[in-house]
Amino acid sequence: MIIHCQTALIDGVPVRSVRLHVDPSGSIARIEPGVAPGEGDLRLGMVLPGAGNAHSHAFHRVLRGRTHDGGGDFWRWRERMYAAAARLDPALYHDLARAVFGEMLAAGYTAVAEFHYVHHRPDGTAYDPAHAMERALAEAAADTGIRLTLLDTCYLAGGIGAPLTPAQLRFGDGTAAGWLRRWHALRDALGPSVVLGAAVHSVRAVTPEDIGAIVAGLPDDVPLHVHLSEQPQENADCLAAYGRTPTQVLADAGALAPRLSAVHATHLTADDVRMLGDAGVTAVFCPTTEADLGDGIGPARELADAGARIALGSDQNAVVDPFLEVRGLEAGERLASGRRGRFSTVELAAALADNGYAACGLTGGIRVGAPCDLVELDAATVRTVGAEPAQLVLAATASDVRRVIVGGRLRAAAGVLRGRDGGAGVDPAALLAAALRPFDTSEED
Ligand code: ZN
Repeated sequence: MIIHCQTALIDGVPVRSVRLHVDPSGSIARIEPGVAPGEGDLRLGMVLPGAGNAHSHAFHRVLRGRTHDGGGDFWRWRERMYAAAARLDPALYHDLARAVFGEMLAAGYTAVAEFHYVHHRPDGTAYDPAHAMERALAEAAADTGIRLTLLDTCYLAGGIGAPLTPAQLRFGDGTAAGWLRRWHALRDALGPSVVLGAAVHSVRAVTPEDIGAIVAGLPDDVPLHVHLSEQPQENADCLAAYGRTPTQVLADAGALAPRLSAVHATHLTADDVRMLGDAGVTAVFCPTTEADLGDGIGPARELADAGARIALGSDQNAVVDPFLEVRGLEAGERLASGRRGRFSTVELAAALADNGYAACGLTGGIRVGAPCDLVELDAATVRTVGAEPAQLVLAATASDVRRVIVGGRLRAAAGVLRGRDGGAGVDPAALLAAALRPFDTSEED
């Protein structure tokens, strides 16, 4: 098939009248700029490459609009998040993830790295049949059409030197060896439709020795993610226990490499920034979540200058809008530095697409060999009309997304999902309403 874009944002630069030839596998085989549409082309208007959501916890969506009042801090929010996790079972997890992935797809995210740690029954015993929670996520992604990189997460401790609490039992696998065994079995069980990645929850939840064992026990090409220095308390605990920053612990464990995505990277020393940059890691910023939880503003510009890639994630999914994340990244930089234009529009476009995809272990952007994943923006709404195409990433919101293409196939249009067979549309809001209902009889604290 052939797709014609009135304007396509290629490497962050608007190019007029572009024909994209899509091969049977759904990848871009050829790019012809400056040519008129042919008969039978699927004709799109203003087109961006699909955004890669480099950090998500789908089930945190339950907390949207229910935890933003009343004060407290990250740690109080975490208690409420655990209460939601306690109620999940494979069926609820599937329905919730399908709805959240649907919301993402309609918003312009065409790939997601799901940081998943609710592996087992509430008492910590394995599901039978095995991998029920992981399969629930994989099916949810297949139902919507979003590309899933499933980051199966190792979560062994409730804090440095502390056992898992009762609420955390279902996250655990006992030992790093136990987690690795399950990871390899999961890889054998899942089909090729899912990219299976891995994650270490944080230095709070996995010891330096176990991080080393995990790095050594995983194949080299597997994307590896970790929460890094989101809160000052994590740094203080890590320094007290190990005499090193969390970044130094990761470095000593051999984890710093281009395949690593360091999520948040908020409270870093100059040495941390240098080590992360030298290793060419991806730093995943989650600006709407970091603002909501009062985490702080991380050193994104410094990390990029040091050699790190910058990607974006929706994290708790209180906001699912790639444009608000990218704007939050730049806004945080401006607020902290007193300067405008800290990231160029080319860099911001790369954070949305190329770097988000790289964090998922995929090739992003509009380029030959990349999957044909596209987002059409309405450039004539009240928000976007009059904007220069290159600056749309700083003007549009998810409400301006029209058609969303994954692998050359139309998967959403005007906020409505097309489903596996391209049949009748499904509104993600209706999916969410149904998926959230079981959480309504709630655990008010
Ligand atoms: Zn997270």
